[in-house]
Amino acid sequence: MKNSFSSIQRSVLLDDLSAKDLDLLVIGGGITGAGTALDAQTRGMKTGLIDMQDFAAGTSSRSTKLVHGGLRYLKQLEVKLVAEVGKERAVVYENAPHVTTPQWMLLPLIRGGTFGKFTTSAGLAVYDRLAGVSRNERRLMLKKQQTVEKEPLLRRDGLKGAGYYVEYRTDDARLTLEVIKKAVEQGAKAVNYVKAEEFLYESGKVAGVRAVDQLTGESRDIRAKKIINAAGPWVDDLREKDQSKQGKQLHLTKGVHITIDNSRFPLQQAVYFDAPDGRMVFAIPREGKTYVGTTDTHFKGNPVHPRMTVEDRDYLLRAIDYMFPGINVRPEDVESSWAGVRPLIHEEGRSPSEISRKDEIFHSDSGLITIAGGKLTGYRKMAERVVDLAAEELEKEGAGLYSKSRTDRIRLSGGKVGGSREFSNFVGEKIREGTTIGLTSNQAEKLAIRYGSNVERLYDILRTTGEEAPHYGLPKSVFAMVVYAIEEEMTAKPSDFFIRRTGALFFHIDWVHKWKAPVTAYMAQRLHWTEEEKQMMLKELEQRVEEATIPLDS
Ligand code: FAD
Repeated sequence: MKNSFSSIQRSVLLDDLSAKDLDLLVIGGGITGAGTALDAQTRGMKTGLIDMQDFAAGTSSRSTKLVHGGLRYLKQLEVKLVAEVGKERAVVYENAPHVTTPQWMLLPLIRGGTFGKFTTSAGLAVYDRLAGVSRNERRLMLKKQQTVEKEPLLRRDGLKGAGYYVEYRTDDARLTLEVIKKAVEQGAKAVNYVKAEEFLYESGKVAGVRAVDQLTGESRDIRAKKIINAAGPWVDDLREKDQSKQGKQLHLTKGVHITIDNSRFPLQQAVYFDAPDGRMVFAIPREGKTYVGTTDTHFKGNPVHPRMTVEDRDYLLRAIDYMFPGINVRPEDVESSWAGVRPLIHEEGRSPSEISRKDEIFHSDSGLITIAGGKLTGYRKMAERVVDLAAEELEKEGAGLYSKSRTDRIRLSGGKVGGSREFSNFVGEKIREGTTIGLTSNQAEKLAIRYGSNVERLYDILRTTGEEAPHYGLPKSVFAMVVYAIEEEMTAKPSDFFIRRTGALFFHIDWVHKWKAPVTAYMAQRLHWTEEEKQMMLKELEQRVEEATIPLDS
């Protein structure tokens, strides 16, 4: 039987997870845990994964949404990091072209700015070499006139030209989901809203967790030979529970992004630019909006729902004003926002932006393996390293023999589109097919781009149950997405759907308002919620909307 990832089957899956003796349990369903589960499962380990929230609800849905080499780390001479993550861009793109899109980036050169002409040209050339960039994507240096042709909104004052180079845009939450879905397809068991509350030990060695289902309150034990702590900003909480929080610790910093409609900030070209304080900020056009970020400030408190403050918003508005004078973006133009917490490894005396983005593995006496730091982009290599360690130990303990990592060649869920080169042909074909089952070309295109080869399943849903859509007050395309989200992506709450399955909270807040009631009503029916539960779910979604749209005073 196909391994299920349906929210209707959630409690059965959880029973299954606790009934089995796993080789490896991963705590945390962000990109690090997702990658680890896929790597382990495909090397022959019986693998489980739990997350106390929805998958990717931590930092992995709150990033700048770039699969990138981290050009600015070159300035900090982090050559190895840049080389590794730079090369990873191509791997992620090839294995999941539906969630990764090449994005030419403009790096304006301003008199007195971070990058001079010579250093930019040389730096980008080194970047191309380190990242093994293909010939047609190598950097170009643009003159002032060429630069303003690419982006007419840029300031002219002090502008000397620009570097022009390729990064990749992604949907971080969907990338995480596609990795988990692939792991599940390969036999891993993954369940969201399950918290590792405490560790279980045998002869002083960690042998499992007491896990609490956050939706029902039920508690159960999950046993595994190895436990990987991939809890992002929470890794130290778990190390504390394991009494192994010694030596290096996390340093949390917060990063905020804001979204503005194209009608107010009609950016046509992604730009990586200097803020007035010399930090660098991205402005990226996407789906009729422009998003700008990030800030980078020390963070204290609970990282579950970090929020934008008035100060964060105004910092980003000042940065826009500095590089794009004349468009006069105002606070009321900010339609949405998100804030994420970086799980960085503390370095004494360094400011948030100076702290390295390198990942590290901590190994406790109890056997708990913790992995933290790093980038979305480098998730696959991080996973490989941590699973190498687990495999080595399991082998020593006589638990089995495991093959080498092969995730560089594994297409993620939805990635069977004939490779990156064929992706646009694939989308063309799916548009034609979609129009034969009652979708507009625009709707079909959006579905094909978002779901890749899994669009087949959405089309099947429409073919078999599409007539039900009007009954729920939903257009066919939205209906297909909700059914798919419940049956194939373990969507347990409306907020999961509007934030991490569709990104609508960040990029189409009007869409959330328009569809929140019918989507919730449909989910209530499929997941057997009482009226009270349904109202609670709606309220929770509205709370998330408030957090995204109303800044805190401080
Ligand atoms: P998380 O995504 O936070 O996942 C950890 C998970 O563990 C959470 O979902 C949490 O619910 C779960 N968890 C915690 N405790 C428990 C428990 N007790 N039981 C069960 N589950 C638990 N990287 C890039 O490559 N490109 C970018 O453009 C980029 N931009 C960024 C911008 C910002 C503002 C930030 C903050 C980061 C950015 N990064 C970027 C870095 C990247 O987003 C992170 O490195 C990455 O998402 C971290 O993933 P993670 O899985 O380690 O942590």
